[in-house]
Amino acid sequence: MSVHGGNPSIKVTFWIPGYPSGTTTTNLADLSPNLQFLLRADTIFKGESSNSNYPNIVPPLVPFNRMMPGAEELYLGVRWDRGKLKRDDESMAISKELLARVGKPDATSAEMRALRGNFQCGRCTSALPVSWDRLVHHFGREEAQWKLSQLIKEADPELHLVYNRTHSLDPENNQPFAHFLTPEESADRMLQVSTYDMPLMRCLGCVDVGIDSQYLDLHGDFDIDSPILEHLREVHNVSSPIPGFHYREWEWDVTDSDPSDGDVDDESDSEDEIEM
Ligand SMILES: [Zn+2]
Ligand SMILES: [Zn+2]
Repeated sequence: MSVHGGNPSIKVTFWIPGYPSGTTTTNLADLSPNLQFLLRADTIFKGESSNSNYPNIVPPLVPFNRMMPGAEELYLGVRWDRGKLKRDDESMAISKELLARVGKPDATSAEMRALRGNFQCGRCTSALPVSWDRLVHHFGREEAQWKLSQLIKEADPELHLVYNRTHSLDPENNQPFAHFLTPEESADRMLQVSTYDMPLMRCLGCVDVGIDSQYLDLHGDFDIDSPILEHLREVHNVSSPIPGFHYREWEWDVTDSDPSDGDVDDESDSEDEIEM
């Protein structure tokens, strides 16, 4: 990893459960082994809709004065169900590998969160700065898509599918996996694109074989590539991607049950496919 602006050192203070109120420590070893495990940056759970660390896996407490009158049940009626969470082994492995590479194998999720959205993927030139969690998620997703593409190719050797592996963390790939930007560099990069529309796109090369890929499309007068175009170029070797043919706008809950339906939808078709 390349580090600009110095390697930041973060001190996190934790409350110690079971001690008189207000007792804190900055030494993780003062906490119980279970709590230490729960607080680790590489302890990640798979939820119904997202993958996350503690405390994000627990619904946020909404203060009484912020609740909408009459809608209290929305906040109070849902009990947290830990049965809906599973250990996310794939994300944990990626997180461990990335933490080892930055020399923080025992970091807590709070420590990595304190570094904020200043991480830029080193494997995509089009990447916008994101938080550590999002970076781990990004690598997990890219690797999962590549692994799926290999399974699809194995199952159907006749299929002509180019799917280059761009986010490998194998030791032989010594390209930096991320750049740590200064807050000013991150803000500059975000500011460049903030006034533009950034629609979410699906790669039709991926959709056609059953891979659910999503990338932003960026247009504008800046030096950042468009993520969907970079994906098509780097992963599928499509040198001049054509909108509508190689990619199209992503829609919520589009049913992909019929993979033979590879046409580019007109509005009425796509509305029929939306599951409400
Ligand atoms: Zn990337
Ligand atoms: Zn694709």
